[in-house]
Amino acid sequence: MIATTVSTLISPYGNKLVDLVVPTEEVDELKAQASHLASLQLSARSVCDLELLATGGFSPLDRFMGQEDHQRVLDEMRLTSGHLFPIPITLPVEAGSDIHLDQKIALRNAKNELLAVMTVEEIYEWDLAEVAQKVFGSQDLRHPLVSEMHRWGKLNISGQLQVLQLPRNYDFKELRLTPAETRAKLETMGHQNVVAFQTRNPLHRVHEELTKRAVQDVDGVLLLHPVVGMTKSGDVDHYTRVRTYKALAEEHYDPDRILLSLLPLAMRMAGPREALWHALIRRNYGATHLIVGRDHAGPGKDSNGNPFYGPYDAQELTEQHSDELGVKVVPFRALVYLPDEDRYEEMSKISDDTRTASISGTQVREEYLHAGKQLPSWFTRPEVAEILAESYPPRHQQGACIWFTGLSGAGKSTTAEVFTALLMEHGRQVTVLDGDVVRTHLSKGLGFSKEDRDINIRRIGFVAAELVRHGGVVICAAVSPYRATRNDVRNLVGQDHFIEVFVDTPLEVCESRDVKGMYAKARRGEIKDFTGIDDPYEAPLHAEVTLDTVNHTPEENAYVILDYLINQGFVRAFVPGNGHSKGHTNGKAN
Ligand code: ADP
Ligand code: ADP
Repeated sequence: MIATTVSTLISPYGNKLVDLVVPTEEVDELKAQASHLASLQLSARSVCDLELLATGGFSPLDRFMGQEDHQRVLDEMRLTSGHLFPIPITLPVEAGSDIHLDQKIALRNAKNELLAVMTVEEIYEWDLAEVAQKVFGSQDLRHPLVSEMHRWGKLNISGQLQVLQLPRNYDFKELRLTPAETRAKLETMGHQNVVAFQTRNPLHRVHEELTKRAVQDVDGVLLLHPVVGMTKSGDVDHYTRVRTYKALAEEHYDPDRILLSLLPLAMRMAGPREALWHALIRRNYGATHLIVGRDHAGPGKDSNGNPFYGPYDAQELTEQHSDELGVKVVPFRALVYLPDEDRYEEMSKISDDTRTASISGTQVREEYLHAGKQLPSWFTRPEVAEILAESYPPRHQQGACIWFTGLSGAGKSTTAEVFTALLMEHGRQVTVLDGDVVRTHLSKGLGFSKEDRDINIRRIGFVAAELVRHGGVVICAAVSPYRATRNDVRNLVGQDHFIEVFVDTPLEVCESRDVKGMYAKARRGEIKDFTGIDDPYEAPLHAEVTLDTVNHTPEENAYVILDYLINQGFVRAFVPGNGHSKGHTNGKAN
């Protein structure tokens, strides 16, 4: 007997899952063709986007957007077909690159492995300010995507895609399910209602409670769908997170009611538009509901200290389009812990005199993880707390980047030298990346055009980010005159680990010091594009520390920065091994 299986799951958006992967029998021929084509190396973000285009995660979208789709997405959050699509998915390239209309190009990853072939049907300009304003509601460079977009190419290309190879991942393979594979698994679980939970953070008890309640309310299954593509820099890395999700899913959920699957999404931190996008993507994976919390996909605060989006904007926008999209919003209800009864309850259901307990996100980081103290089991399951403790050393063992910026001769190197000695005295290992020194090896050959300076700063930033990731303290001292580039490095290193020190010495003072005689040369026109003379210096608007080198000595200033780091927990207040014998010098025994 032949059984016709009718899916119990919601259909993909646009009714059909896009599938751009070429059939196996055509792969060899296309690969051979591709070896003669011009190549384009994709960014990590574009690789993620390509994967979701290829597997139908972005259905009905089947390519990087062309101009008309792009414009309508900006203006109305819709594709030209009328389907909702709130986030532009584009493939930017540099102007002047060797890409022409009606030609095929090979799309490769960072390791130059061939992923896809694109037929270039459109090449068009895009406007950064417009995209920033319409999609992110802001042009503030503290928005990670706004600052990232400054280094994207100025042209977008679009055209039919033939995908030869999905990006290869070797970690947690069994959990990396495409939309079709996710649907197949959900199908066997036999519930029509599927509640998706999007996350880029470790899950605590409150999330467990909330997801279990949501599943119970709709009598469905939970699609625990953490993002493992790109999240916000500074987030707990996905290896650690996935270990916690696995522990939770295996130990604390009914196996018939949960499916853990990893989503290779490159997040945009676009708040409301992003929440709607998450709902659309989850429909393609078979979900009928999406849990949307406070400040969903919010990037934190702007440069004036205000949140980019209102706390419920994301819920509201997603709800407005929920019927059309076919995905219902499950609002993240406020739950509190009742210590006397050892259980969680909805805030709205308890009387005013009930004793409650909570630990804020900031407290989790500051008072527990950074301090090396394990989270209590009512707050976080012990299996999860242990994994977090292992991967999250206390603050004074975490990395930090101290980024000095200021005019040539401002006193960056001089102050940095004193500061380095103080840090080492306080028991931290330090790497110094001085602009002048870096230019003799890592950046040898680079000049002072805007482009070369940006390359220099990004190289320093790249090295700094790696060192910080491995728990090192790195001191960078370069003029770094451009605000956007510095913000870029801030995001690369991670906001919480980046301390911008503005050495705010007036130009006249730097010029009168003229340590290397360069200002004199610049005034005579013998050096071009000299910062402060005929090239701009964009002072930081919100540096963590600002130094005055006219009224304070290098040593005084070094202590200002040290105090800041002690306050932040990156350095312990006492000198290890030094006891209380402050006046004791020269290492002589008393
Ligand atoms: P940069 O690294 O910013 O280009 P340097 O540290 O190489 O600047 O040069 C700063 C010059 O200014 C040094 O010669 C230093 O001795 C002098 N100077 C005078 N007062 C100060 C101060 N308070 N802080 C730092 N440098 C000072
Ligand atoms: P940037 O941050 O612009 O890459 P670096 O700190 O790496 O700058 O190098 C700046 C140093 O190079 C200055 O201290 C100065 O001595 C020297 N220099 C040479 N030409 C220029 C220039 N056109 N503008 C600024 N600094 C210059």
